[in-house]
Amino acid sequence: MRIGLDIDGVVADSFPVFLRELNKHFDKKLEKIDNYDMAKLYGVDWEVMSKFFDDHMEFLFSEPMPMPGAVEGITELMDKGNEIIYVTARNPGGEEEATIKWMNQKSIPYDKVIFMGNACKTSAVKEYELDVFVEDHSGNALKIFNSGIGVFLFDAPYNRIQLPSGITRCYNWTELTKEITTLK
Ligand SMILES: [Mg+2]
Repeated sequence: MRIGLDIDGVVADSFPVFLRELNKHFDKKLEKIDNYDMAKLYGVDWEVMSKFFDDHMEFLFSEPMPMPGAVEGITELMDKGNEIIYVTARNPGGEEEATIKWMNQKSIPYDKVIFMGNACKTSAVKEYELDVFVEDHSGNALKIFNSGIGVFLFDAPYNRIQLPSGITRCYNWTELTKEITTLK
C-alpha cells in the first residue's frame, strides 16, 4: 500500500513547540491550540502570524520531537512492505531543507516527501496514487476523503468536528499502525 502522511501534528509533535514560542512572542498564556487558525487564536493579522513563522522557521521545525510511537509505527509499516509518502503544507525551498534535516536527525524513515505550500493536497494524492492518508487538519482530511481514499484523522483539540464514516479518528500511533495494518 502507498500511505500518505502529513507531517505537523501527525509525525512531528509541532504544536506544543508552536504554543510555547507563540506565547513567548505574543506575551500570552494560552494553554492549548484549539483553533488551527493561529492568527485568529492569538488575535493578530494573518500577515503578522505568517511573518512570525517565516522569521522562526528553522527553530520551529528543528525543535519538535517526533509524535510518540511515530518512528516505530512508520518503521513497522515500511517493514511490512508499505510505501511512505509525506505530503506537507510546508513550502518547498528552505523549509524543505529544514524538514529533511529534522527527519534525518530524528531517524524518521521516508520514501518521498512532497512540499505542497498552499496547493491542495488532493493533487499529490492523485499524482502518487495514494491508498490511504493520515492528516490532523480536518479541512484537509475532508478534501482528501472526498477525493476518494480512506483517511485517518489524528486527534487534536483543533479538529474535533463530526466526521463522516470513512474518516477514522485516531488517538495514537499504536492504534493507527494497527488500523492501517488491517486495511486490505
Ligand atoms: Mg498537520
